[in-house]
Amino acid sequence: MRITGRTKLLGVIGYPIEHSLSPIMHNAALLEMGLEYVYLPFRIAPETLEAAVSGFAAIALQGFNITIPHKQAIVPFLTSVTDVAAAIGSVNTVWRTEVGWSGTNTDVIGFLAPLQALQKDWRSTRAVILGNGGAARAVVAGCSQLGCADIQVVGRNPEKVNAFLQSWNGSPFAENLQVRSWDALPDLLSDADLIVNTTPIGMTPQIDQSPLTSTDVQQLKKGAIAYDLIYVPNPTLFLQQARSQGCMTIDGLEMLIGQGAAALEIWTERAVPVETMRQSLRQHLGL
Ligand code: NAP
Repeated sequence: MRITGRTKLLGVIGYPIEHSLSPIMHNAALLEMGLEYVYLPFRIAPETLEAAVSGFAAIALQGFNITIPHKQAIVPFLTSVTDVAAAIGSVNTVWRTEVGWSGTNTDVIGFLAPLQALQKDWRSTRAVILGNGGAARAVVAGCSQLGCADIQVVGRNPEKVNAFLQSWNGSPFAENLQVRSWDALPDLLSDADLIVNTTPIGMTPQIDQSPLTSTDVQQLKKGAIAYDLIYVPNPTLFLQQARSQGCMTIDGLEMLIGQGAAALEIWTERAVPVETMRQSLRQHLGL
């Protein structure tokens, strides 16, 4: 990559940020697109977020991604957010406008990308979502956009799961949403067509863990889709279990690529080389 006096800046903020794969895929895509941009990681502690955002305005950063722990905290520093970001309650992509920073959440687009590629009619799909954290919110919005008949969110903490349900009150994204406790899982799985793991269970270094017990696994329907948001390891134990039951599997790399491609399209207003992004990540991860 050639840096010149005309090079424009993009980036990602998080704390920590060292693990982020976004610089790999964005810089590969920018190079392929022949654009004079560079995408950098910025380690921003929570107490310096406001100063960092002012600094980004001062140095004319074109836009940035946001990861943990700033996805909600960034909102007060933006002049507008999209409806989908407001519904999910978090922002992962920000771009510069004449009047300030605007934000959206491209995780829904990323989550949906590999599902929409299947060109299925989702209207009879029963979705089960494991976990009720930040990523689960994008998954609920995504399943709702697909038109799933039934969206069941399963969580381990009754108070948190109920608060999750309440937080969607009146939202058009949550018409078919219900929440359940973890012990309802075997019953739910025997009917589920789409099972999404949004918990960190099974992520490196806990690669021998799965959100499903061996009894749960027996309930999985042949032909159901098992989708893990985790991208390292690849595949996770959950996806290996699902494959052994005849399920179709989707790993978290596709969501990562999809949310990144949608962000890059916003910043550059150009078609994005998604395959280059995919290959750069697969090569980096040794897949
Ligand atoms: P988060 O906000 O911390 O939510 C994690 C959820 O998992 C919480 O509901 C938590 O339950 C639940 N959980 C954690 N450990 C559990 C356990 N042992 N048993 C049952 N439930 C458990 O995190 P997040 O931001 O949503 O991220 C979740 C995962 O998605 C991470 O692995 C992340 O890397 C991945 N992700 C991937 C992408 C992608 O592009 N592929 C995008 C976003 C996130 P409590 O609420 O009870 O604590």
